[in-house]
Parts: sequence; C-alpha cells; structure tokens
Amino acid sequence: MVKGKGEEKVSVQYSLFFIQRFKGKVLFNVPMSEYTSLKIGGPADVMAFPQDEGDLKDLIAFAEAKNFPFYILGAGTNLLVRDGGFRGIIVNMTEGFKDIIWQEDKAIVGAGIKLSETVAQCRERGLSGLEFAVGIPGTIGGAVAMNAGAYGSEMKDVVDGIEIINKKGQKKFIPASELGFSYRKAEIPKGAVVARVHMKFEKTTPDAVRDKIKEFTEKRRTSSKVTYPNAGSMFKNPEGLFAGKLIEDAGLKGERSGEAQVSEIHANYIVNLGKAKAKDVLALMALIRDRIFSQKGIVLEPEIKVVGED
Ligand SMILES: Cc1cc2nc3c(=O)[nH]c(=O)nc-3n(C[C@H](O)[C@H](O)[C@H](O)COP(=O)(O)OP(=O)(O)OC[C@H]3O[C@@H](n4cnc5c(N)ncnc54)[C@H](O)[C@@H]3O)c2cc1C
Repeated sequence: MVKGKGEEKVSVQYSLFFIQRFKGKVLFNVPMSEYTSLKIGGPADVMAFPQDEGDLKDLIAFAEAKNFPFYILGAGTNLLVRDGGFRGIIVNMTEGFKDIIWQEDKAIVGAGIKLSETVAQCRERGLSGLEFAVGIPGTIGGAVAMNAGAYGSEMKDVVDGIEIINKKGQKKFIPASELGFSYRKAEIPKGAVVARVHMKFEKTTPDAVRDKIKEFTEKRRTSSKVTYPNAGSMFKNPEGLFAGKLIEDAGLKGERSGEAQVSEIHANYIVNLGKAKAKDVLALMALIRDRIFSQKGIVLEPEIKVVGED
C-alpha cells in the first residue's frame, strides 16, 4: 500500500471523506502491464479513474495532502513502467473526460478521448488539421503532453490552449503560446493534469479529410505491420536524421535482450515478444545508445517516458 511522508498528519476522516466523495473507480495493486501498449510494468499501488473535474480536484488534493506521488496515465502508448511498479497513485484519464463540444471549426475535447475518435469526428464534419494523427493510438491528453506528431505536423498546429487542474486543485486555462511546444514536448506545469484541450481546425469537406487520412494511413504502412506489443518510436529523431535508419545501419534490427527485441520491421520500435521485462527493454535501449554513440558520435534521446521502480 501507499506510504507517504505526511501520511500521519492526515486524519482518517479526511481519507473517508475522499473515498465517499470520489465517483470514479479506485483499484489497488494494479499490474501496469495491463495498462501499457508494451504490456510491461510491475504493480501500481493505486489506480484511480476520475470521472470529472470534481474527482480530479479531490484526487490531487488527497495525493498532495498525503504526500503521495501521482502519475497521469492516458492510453499508456508512450510509456515504459519499470518492473517494480509505481509507489503511489496512477491517475487514469481514460474513463472520464470523454466529452467533445464542437463550435464550427473549433472543439473542446476531453483529455480521455482517443485521437482516433477525434480524427473520425473531424472527418465527418469536414474539419482538417488532425489527419496526421490517424494511427497514433493515444489520448488527446497524452498527445498534447507529448506534442505528438507525424509527417511534419504536430499537436501544436491544432491546439489553441488547454484546461488544466494544477497541483493546488485549481482550474486554469493555458493558451498554446504559453505551452512552449517543441519536438515531442509541451511545457505543462509540473503536477498539472490536462483535463480538456481547445482545438482549432480548417473547414473543408469530409471527402478532402478522408483523402488526407488515406494518404497518411498509406505512409504508415510499414510501421503498422509491427504486430507485437510496442510503444511506437523509442528514440527521437536527431536533427535532420532518422533514429530508425541509424539503428538499422548499425545492424541492430532483430537484436534481443530477453524477450525484448529491436523490431525487424521498424528499427526504432522495440517489441515485446511475450514476457519481456522493463529491464530487458532498458538494456536494449542502452545498447542502442552506446552503439550509435560509439559509431556516429550521436546521442539518441529517448522519446518514451520511463516511470516506476526497478
Ligand atoms: C503503434 C504506435 C505508433 C505511434 N506513433 C506515434 C507517432 O506517429 N507520433 C507520435 O508522436 N507518437 C506516436 N506514438 C506514441 C504515443 O501514441 C503518443 O505519444 C501518444 O500521444 C501518447 O498518448 P497516451 O494517451 O498513450 O499517453 P501515455 O503514454 O499514457 O502518457 C504519455 C505522457 O503523457 C502524460 N499524460 C498523459 N495524459 C495526460 C494528461 N491528461 N495530462 C497531463 N499529462 C498527461 C503522461 O504522464 C506521460 O508523461 C505511437 C505509439 C504506438 C504504440
């Protein structure tokens, strides 16, 4: 169970008050392998599924008061959880925050909604801008936090701003201009949870959007053939280069550590052949980085997030 430094200071009544008020599900000792696309990760002490802003505020206040670490989880498609799991609370955003409010060429999209669902709704409405995201399996919240992108477009191009709940439990709107978007990164205040994303699109026709989606789907043909569990690209592309090409040229395609393997289809993907451990994936990542650095003098930066304990 969770242990926090300030736990003794918090009254039992407070915990009971929180438990009675919280509308979402709360699970204990949850294997993170069931919540990540890599299908890897030890147990999280607690996983809570806030249903709405009230739940989120209560949950953050509770975690802060008890001094419990917490980590925000979207679809877990860019995440490696270590084998020892996570000591604290995983805030799972995929069961609440599922609303989309459309206003002509704009939308306010709940953080828990899948990118694919948003792309599909844009297609029906003839709204262009998010087609690049077809085939990216995350949530809108995760996509903003990662500034997810593909083929020259990224979330930054379609985001007007975000609604967050900060670690004091306050709701704030942050305009895109203050999000410091860069390659696979947004500067979201530490400990804040993205609740909703304000998005803007270009009005066109459903057919035009459909054509673009088809074009991007075609471009994704190679990587979509990777069938083993994975987390997409493991490393960021160095300026002007492709990490996958560097890894392939270094002869590392198919390289294994335990049951983790550099994909034989897409060299920047590491796949779980069955019972891979986080330590296997991390060993393979270290091998790749060492090899590319010694051969090319290039330091590959991980794209995936790594959390938890060994
Ligand atoms: C097959 C495959 C293909 C992929 N292709 C691409 C691609 O082309 N381009 C690309 O950019 N990525 C790609 N990815 C990676 C991944 O899908 C994206 O990064 C996605 O946006 C992550 O969303 P998620 O909901 O899964 O986030 P998670 O993996 O759950 O979390 C990622 C990070 O975002 C944070 N986060 C999640 N939700 C919130 C929230 N509501 N508030 C605050 N922080 C939050 C988490 O704490 C974590 O740090 C791919 C992955 C796979 C498996």
